[in-house]
Amino acid sequence: MRLRRLTLLLLTTLALTACSEPLPQVHKARLFTLGTLVDVSVLDRDEATAQKATNIVETELALINTQWHAWRDSPLTKINQQLAQRKKVAIDTSTYRFIKQAQTLATMSNQLFNPAIGSLVGLWGFHSDDTPVGPPPAEAAIEALVKEAPSMANITLTPTTISSSNPAVQLDFGAFGKGYAIDRAIEKLKLAGVENAIVNAGGDLRAIGSKGEHPWRIGIRHPTEAGVIASIETRGDESLFTSGNYERFFDFDGKRYHHIIDPRSGYPATGTLSVTVIHHSAATADAAATALFIAGTQQWQQIARQMGIDEVMLIDRDLTIYMTPQMAARIHIEIDDANIRIVGGQT
Ligand code: AMP
Ligand code: MG
Repeated sequence: MRLRRLTLLLLTTLALTACSEPLPQVHKARLFTLGTLVDVSVLDRDEATAQKATNIVETELALINTQWHAWRDSPLTKINQQLAQRKKVAIDTSTYRFIKQAQTLATMSNQLFNPAIGSLVGLWGFHSDDTPVGPPPAEAAIEALVKEAPSMANITLTPTTISSSNPAVQLDFGAFGKGYAIDRAIEKLKLAGVENAIVNAGGDLRAIGSKGEHPWRIGIRHPTEAGVIASIETRGDESLFTSGNYERFFDFDGKRYHHIIDPRSGYPATGTLSVTVIHHSAATADAAATALFIAGTQQWQQIARQMGIDEVMLIDRDLTIYMTPQMAARIHIEIDDANIRIVGGQT
């Protein structure tokens, strides 16, 4: 009898303890780095852990921003100056890893993702903190740079040095650095014991865990109107990246010139409005979204296969939505009368 009473008492105490612990909540913080607003969401019982997580993300993103800034004085601009002078440059291990991953992804994309075309991006006026206003550069200047054909294949990389056989190579990691930084931030969060979080840099994100009982739900921006065109629930640990012609651009003489340059022509890639990619790695998703945007309706399936990407949504200039079967199986289209084409997938 005494024993039973003691057990009951113990159970009551346990129940009371459980009740007094606050339920996990989503804590949100907003930062400005990598040229964009970054939202950090963390599901946790206590505010202090969420704050610690935000600090971790801020540190990691700021580090990549400083290291790889393409036009403000940075370690990258120093490397670029020396590559232009045909010099071999000493690098550290973290620089090696970053460039190596970008080089591998460039190869897999047939150099459509080509971080060696910094001179072209600069020529178009996108190396600026201000919104570019045009006019477009002279045709001859574009042609001259395209003829020099800078690519990541020109780069010789060892764990301690980088050099280029082509002095026209100027590195610009605008299509990859955000993904790489988010991967690092998420790895650090996991090490700190965070299991449920999203790091969302202007719609490009990696999500881990869930929002508690429900998965994290993400909206994908409509490329030509306000609001979302689709939404998706993330599973486990995955990244969702979108490249769009609405992100950085100028209109000139009634034509839009945006920031995703086709290395083959030297002009902004035509035919695509946006591409969304889901992949485990944010760095891969970032590079792939850019490459598939340029690949367009004709080539995206082939390049996606080469880059190991199963989940793709490409919206072309007529607002036709192309998707792989894997993407179609999980995405929610949020507009009426969408023209959807489910293609590929026989990998
Ligand atoms: P994203 O928004 O990820 O598609 O990246 C676009 C940014 O990447 C641009 O602002 C440029 O800095 C850079 N970029 C433009 N064209 C290319 C390209 N073909 N390959 C790699 N980076 C590019
Ligand atoms: Mg990208």
